[in-house]
Amino acid sequence: MKYQNKMTLTTKVLIGMGLGIIVGLTINLLGLNAPGSFTNVYVVNGFFHIIGKMFVTALKMLVVPLVFFSLITGVLGIGDIRSLGKVGGKSFALYMLTTAIAIAVGISIAAALGVGEGVHMSTDLSFTAKEAPPLSQVLIEIIPSNIIHAMSEGKMLQIIFFSILTGISILMVGKKAEPLVELIEIANEVMMKMVNIVMAVAPYAVFALLAKAIANLGLGLLADLAGYVVVLIAALMIHLFITLMSILKLFTGLSIPMFLKKMREVQIFAFSTSSSNATIPVTLRAVTDKLGVDISVASFTVPFGATINMDGTAIMQGVATVFIANAYGVDLGMAGYLTVIMMSVLASIGTAGVPGVGLIMLSMVFTQVGLPVEGIGLILGVDRLLDMIRTAVNVTGDAAVSVIVAKSEKKLDIATYNDPDAGVITEDDLDIPDEVEREFAQVVHEIKEEE
Ligand code: ASP
Repeated sequence: MKYQNKMTLTTKVLIGMGLGIIVGLTINLLGLNAPGSFTNVYVVNGFFHIIGKMFVTALKMLVVPLVFFSLITGVLGIGDIRSLGKVGGKSFALYMLTTAIAIAVGISIAAALGVGEGVHMSTDLSFTAKEAPPLSQVLIEIIPSNIIHAMSEGKMLQIIFFSILTGISILMVGKKAEPLVELIEIANEVMMKMVNIVMAVAPYAVFALLAKAIANLGLGLLADLAGYVVVLIAALMIHLFITLMSILKLFTGLSIPMFLKKMREVQIFAFSTSSSNATIPVTLRAVTDKLGVDISVASFTVPFGATINMDGTAIMQGVATVFIANAYGVDLGMAGYLTVIMMSVLASIGTAGVPGVGLIMLSMVFTQVGLPVEGIGLILGVDRLLDMIRTAVNVTGDAAVSVIVAKSEKKLDIATYNDPDAGVITEDDLDIPDEVEREFAQVVHEIKEEE
């Protein structure tokens, strides 16, 4: 139990987050971030920007190989190939259901409180609409025409499709493919180690990401739109702590405080990066190592959820729709709101979890119900902070559904779930034992001599 003497990564990340917020706020409130100033150029957009960007890029670098190897490992380890279909069906249904509930919650709370009523419109609004990809196209695009291209573009649904197909084909080849199975399992383990290495620098990166984001926030703008911001944050919290946790409790009967404790690190990553996609390595690690979900379920539900499940984003769409409808004096009526719910759920399937994508989805929804798309310009300025919060809600939904599906498929290790120390990373995890180093040097030496 060596790690008890050392600070865990989660504690360090929490400290990084706290310090990042304090430093960001100080820079912001003291007005040190004026364009062209030393702090602005060298600290916020220099040092903080470089550290944060390098870290997010490193996370993104892990996503594709990690999803590829873990998903094949998952398919190979599932034991009964039919349960793959069940995992797919259940997670899809739950993701859609929670997203629909989320947007309904957003609309109801915002409508009950009348957000946007009496808002004065500014005249220089600009936001260009994006076309919603038709469902047919989303379906067709699940199949990659070129897997290298899909991987280089990070097209998650295509990568998921190809990985599952590879896993199934390996099973069909059978005994002959055993060396490949071993290779893929080892590759998966290596990728998981790489996640640990990248996460070791997380406390510093989280500090830099948050200090930069908060230093750049237009706090005055936040105050102007306080009604929208407060209602949206309240709706997000209600969904996270009440709706999602009730669903988790109802389906699994597991401890909610334990779930929330183990999700803290993932939520901070999502909050700092504003990207469910970039958070995939961290979510996958937490869901398997901390919450005890078997890799055969998690390797599918986590990347799938990062792509199609966006509860937080759906809530934002609900609240923003009511806000802008009220601000423009448009009465959408029951049918209008039902269309909004349907459109948001559909839009979430075809769009990846990356920063700011929620606004693009919103423009698709607005076009559909005939709300003025340029109204999105009203909330554009405050979206950075809200994106951070809703991304944390998005990843929590992904993990909750992963646990529910795993439990129902008997693929959840309850002892791991209930062990508060499961999956905790310490400095010891990054050690390379001396004997291993020597052994590998010996092996390389021998190979060279043989040549
Ligand atoms: N940033 C969000 C995510 O990655 C999507 C959004 O709401 O913009 O999940």
